[in-house]
Amino acid sequence: MIEASRLVDALFMKQLWRGNPDTWAQVQQDSTPLGKARRAYYWMNKGPFSRLDDCRSFLSGPPPRKPLGANFYPEDLTREELESWVEHLPSAEQKEARGFFTVIRRGADGKLTVVPYSKEYAAELAKMAALLRKAAQSTDNATLKTFLLARADALLSNDYFASDVAWMDVDAPIDLTFGPYETYNDELFGYKAAFEAYVNLRDDAETARLAAFSKHLQEIEDHLPIPAEQRNPKLGSQAPIRVVQQVFAAGDAAHGVKTAAYNLPNDERVVVQKGSKRVMLKNVQEAKFKTVLVPIAQRVLAASEQRDVAFEPFFTHILAHELSHGLGPQQIRIGDRATTPRAELKDLSGATEEAKADVVGLFALQFLMDHAERLQLKGLLHTGEKAERQLYTTFMASAFRTLRFGMQEAHGKGMALQLGYLMDKKAVLARPDGTFAIDLERFKASVKGDRPGTQKMFERFAALRPEVKKALAGLDGIPTDIEPLFVTADGLAPPR
Ligand SMILES: [Zn+2]
Repeated sequence: MIEASRLVDALFMKQLWRGNPDTWAQVQQDSTPLGKARRAYYWMNKGPFSRLDDCRSFLSGPPPRKPLGANFYPEDLTREELESWVEHLPSAEQKEARGFFTVIRRGADGKLTVVPYSKEYAAELAKMAALLRKAAQSTDNATLKTFLLARADALLSNDYFASDVAWMDVDAPIDLTFGPYETYNDELFGYKAAFEAYVNLRDDAETARLAAFSKHLQEIEDHLPIPAEQRNPKLGSQAPIRVVQQVFAAGDAAHGVKTAAYNLPNDERVVVQKGSKRVMLKNVQEAKFKTVLVPIAQRVLAASEQRDVAFEPFFTHILAHELSHGLGPQQIRIGDRATTPRAELKDLSGATEEAKADVVGLFALQFLMDHAERLQLKGLLHTGEKAERQLYTTFMASAFRTLRFGMQEAHGKGMALQLGYLMDKKAVLARPDGTFAIDLERFKASVKGDRPGTQKMFERFAALRPEVKKALAGLDGIPTDIEPLFVTADGLAPPR
């Protein structure tokens, strides 16, 4: 599986930019210190385009920026040309042209054609399929064997449906994700899937912990601090969540900012029939925690509070965040119109949804901690004041990590909203020395939702003060409103 996955790197690089194979070969020749640094950064980005700098090239030879359509389309192709060409194709070919698993090429005559991945990448895919079949022979796990064989077939036939379904059914200690999946690299249309591979080991202990939390989602929903009629009386089935340790990643999965969780497949036909699977990469989260969050905490927290920053509450909150995407109003009514929060909030829905998942995640964990004994979660979840302090302090430190994704990004913007609110509530306090602290009681109160607080606000401000009442009483005899007499209209055209 790892051998097959290694081939994915080169294939992905070919998909990303036409000049990638040649330039990569050149870059590897240079053994000077600068050359080595370039080579390392090139590999990190799987090309000369820096993901952290809006895909601008850090070498002088390649185009100044990654072509929007990567190498899925001819580099000179415009949106208009492709659209008008596709419109005139028969409908089956239109589907292919817009499909996940084809590239668009231009012939010597200048005409466009649709080429399936199975043909465009025939040599690479044949090698991968052979390796996946070899892996299938080496396992006695029936679900993994079925997936490996189905995926090998798909690489050659270009029909991924059956193997996507088989992937949803994999129940094995080794969890392989392998194939063309995400479409982010196709910035022109978002149609074309890039190859990636993850070889993971299932983390049974964490997966069991997650399953234990999931059992109580309905009870958490029933206690959300929102009006009862907005709660969902019967939660739909959730995407299964697996916690894994990543052993190897390649291609799209190993370039730019590294994936810490993913949700696949993207093919709606599979999602409708089988749902999708969310995979959480625990050791990747752990590395991000140690490398990014701990140093951030050392700058933004006072020394006395840094010891409350811990991996366990960090990871547990990420799990709770993922579970919380399924909680709260999903289908709503406005007047007699059925709609969704996403449709109503439009461009604000991404950031609002992420903020919701964060804060409902905190709410859910507090609920589980408060009822740990009754829900038989002892041993699965730390409880008590120390655990609470760790949860909220780690969350606050992590806020600064998330804010660095930027205000254009849903998680960053959603976190800015929460931090502003928490600071207003004095649940997060900015100290004169530049560090931050939490006020545990105020933090917990803020997360519990503020229906009572809103009621108090109305009681306090919407009640009339005595001075106002007295003045109102002195207004007796003055009309409350007018009744117009339409004298001009009546003169011009009297009522009949
Ligand atoms: Zn989220």
